[in-house]
Amino acid sequence: MKFMIAVDCEGSACVVGEPGRTLSNSCNMQFAREQATRETNAAARALFDAGAEQVVIWDNHGDGTNLIFDQLDQRCKVLLGTGFSRRFPELDETYTGVLMIGYHAMAGTTNAVLAHTYSSKVYHAIHVNGLEVGEIALDASVAGELGVPLIFVASDDKGCAEALSFTPWIKTVATKQGFGRNCAYSKHPTVVETEIYQTVRQAVDRLEEMKPFLFAHPVQIEIYFKKYIHLIKARFRRQGWRITGQKTLSTTLADMRQWKC
Ligand SMILES: [Zn+2]
Repeated sequence: MKFMIAVDCEGSACVVGEPGRTLSNSCNMQFAREQATRETNAAARALFDAGAEQVVIWDNHGDGTNLIFDQLDQRCKVLLGTGFSRRFPELDETYTGVLMIGYHAMAGTTNAVLAHTYSSKVYHAIHVNGLEVGEIALDASVAGELGVPLIFVASDDKGCAEALSFTPWIKTVATKQGFGRNCAYSKHPTVVETEIYQTVRQAVDRLEEMKPFLFAHPVQIEIYFKKYIHLIKARFRRQGWRITGQKTLSTTLADMRQWKC
């Protein structure tokens, strides 16, 4: 069995950032790096204990250099940095499943901690086939196109609910209860590590229930930008996209393997 663990930072235990700043620019970031590392290790250890031969960690928050790399489980390899041509780089049909650690709810979610969709500065919302979606569904669908199911998500309670609304068969751990963008009622970080270990073991025990998540093909995507200038900049980068509103770019993709955030 082969697995890939996608790791963001906003959804980890005792991570809330600071008002008016991204998490990366907040005093809470060093703790976020350490806790995301511990939570990732808990998931990796559960996968190896369940019989995995290979576990790859994909560090994907911000510039992709967040985890405390020398403290990661030595049996893992790490994908890090920016500039990959797609989400879930290196993932292919030979993988058994993907997991998400530290993920967060989509932009605009009420009382979700640090909710956003890829960039809190640039994107107001992203719709797929007319439905508003966030990073959890978008990333899960990229893995789904390769036939690889999402099996586990750790996030705040709003992120877990969002994940279950798209993929009700997965296992989740709610690390904290979101009370607002920058406040939460968190479980103790060590308790969360234990819960992640136990719940990932359960997810691997129930692999036959896990299904690849797919949007219907072809995939209609609308990006609602926060500012007109973001649309203009994105238009240069996104060949074949149409301006369909004051701050909206749209396109139709054959499938989500062509998706770039
Ligand atoms: Zn992030």
